[in-house]
Amino acid sequence: MPSPASPSSFDFDLFVIGGGSGGVRAARMAGQRGARVALAECAALGGTCVNVGCIPKKLYSYAAGYAEAFEEAPGYGWTLPEAPRFDWRVLKANRAKEIARLNRVYQGLLDGAGVTLLQGWAQLVDGHTVEVDGRRHTAKHILVATGGMPVLPDLPGAELGVVSDAVFDLPAFPQRLVVVGAGYIACEFASIFRGLGAQVTQLVRRAHLLDAFDEDVREFLAREMGKAGIDLRMNTQAETITRDEATGRLSVSLARGQVLEADTVLFATGRRPNTEGMGLEAAGVKLDARGAVVVDGEYRSSLLSVFAVGDVCTRLQLTPVALAEAMVVVDRLFGDARRRMDYDYVPTAVFTHPNVGTCGYTEAAARAKFGEVRIFATDFKPLRHTLSGREERTFMKLVVDAKSDRVVGLHMVGPEAGEIVQGFAVAMRAGATKAQFDSTIGIHPTAAEEFVTMREPTVG
Ligand code: FAD
Ligand code: NDP
Repeated sequence: MPSPASPSSFDFDLFVIGGGSGGVRAARMAGQRGARVALAECAALGGTCVNVGCIPKKLYSYAAGYAEAFEEAPGYGWTLPEAPRFDWRVLKANRAKEIARLNRVYQGLLDGAGVTLLQGWAQLVDGHTVEVDGRRHTAKHILVATGGMPVLPDLPGAELGVVSDAVFDLPAFPQRLVVVGAGYIACEFASIFRGLGAQVTQLVRRAHLLDAFDEDVREFLAREMGKAGIDLRMNTQAETITRDEATGRLSVSLARGQVLEADTVLFATGRRPNTEGMGLEAAGVKLDARGAVVVDGEYRSSLLSVFAVGDVCTRLQLTPVALAEAMVVVDRLFGDARRRMDYDYVPTAVFTHPNVGTCGYTEAAARAKFGEVRIFATDFKPLRHTLSGREERTFMKLVVDAKSDRVVGLHMVGPEAGEIVQGFAVAMRAGATKAQFDSTIGIHPTAAEEFVTMREPTVG
């Protein structure tokens, strides 16, 4: 391993392509350890998460939450002076201001770590050379952290729809929105726009939402989203989209001659890695069938000096995962190489209304892996809704390996599920057993205390 401070025949010790979650973290940490680092970014610093992902999405989710608060307030004695009105332009402008502030924060972090920032599209020339807008730079190591981009399905008129990148800045608020897809993005935006007052129809090609999630969670969430007024159409696919040139309105044709009218159609039909046209394969970097960079356990590609982390490898497409992978690479190149990434018990949340929070195995996956499991589940009306008048319920579930008593799956659909599951994820990583959950005193009155007070297995 070279000393970062030692003279080198290369322009840089590390060249990072992509200034998103993984790229910025790697560049910053390597710079702080004394490495000579360059980072190329072709758009705004912060990547998907900051500009068109986690952060603006969560801000819009908060905006949608106010509608629920206004609806619930009279039950608690509040009289609203007039019916609340929502201004899409104000939300967009305030979001843009906050994102611009974050872009500057990222710039400051890179400057502070002495990273050379190159604005432009980067291509790999060979294992030690990157070209940015016609200028070549050499580096001992190269990190590809170029993320992914949304894909449109192959159907006539798909180009009339929008993808999540564009949905934050729609020129006009869509009174009638059709969402295609059943993954994180589809469910989150269906919830957000419903909360903001749109009439939302979600087209789901299978019989359920969120394919990789626990079956009970999927069913419970679908019921709650339906109660919130989202028109969920399972086993339904859009066939064509046309636009009325006079009104600008869209028509979405479904099977059996049904037609939905919409102001906007959002395709949330998955993402693909950003590797096209970057010269990766020509330089010797192996890509898989979907275009993702193939890496080993240390994030090294088939070209030994080139590494890749984050969404461009399409493992788990989550910001904290990209950050952790970046740290492993930096530690490997400029540290003591002790850091490891473990994909077990990575908690995740879907910011629907109500939230989904999950960590570990679904019931089905746990049965397949551990054999006998005990299931503890509860479904209740949260205290808040005794006076709010809302019919929303909360669902919680524990999956326990019968042999070891270890809690191997923890799932929740309910307010702040993301906040609650984060804490339990620590216990699960530490291997906590059901007996240890049971011996933990609850915090009363909370929804979270149910996770330590479920005594009778529902199955097992
Ligand atoms: P990115 O953040 O996408 O960064 C890649 C960067 O590389 C981009 O800035 C891009 O412009 C740049 N780039 C690409 N090609 C080149 C090139 N050739 N030259 C120079 N620059 C290039 N995850 C969560 O954990 N929680 C959430 O709540 C969440 N919400 C999300 C909501 C949405 C709508 C979306 C789309 C994603 C969400 N994610 C969420 C996923 C999360 O945003 C990604 O997993 C994360 O951003 C991946 O980081 P990355 O560094 O791999 O890529
Ligand atoms: P996902 O892969 O999660 O979901 C894609 C959805 O689109 C699936 O429901 C899929 O259906 C459906 N689909 C694909 N093709 C078609 C088609 N032709 N017609 C109809 N439906 C189709 O991708 P997303 O785009 O939602 O999100 C990408 C990733 O970003 C997520 O996996 C997640 O890792 C990350 N993310 C994380 C968030 C968070 O942490 N809160 C929020 C948003 C994104 P099927 O199931 O049948 O294949």
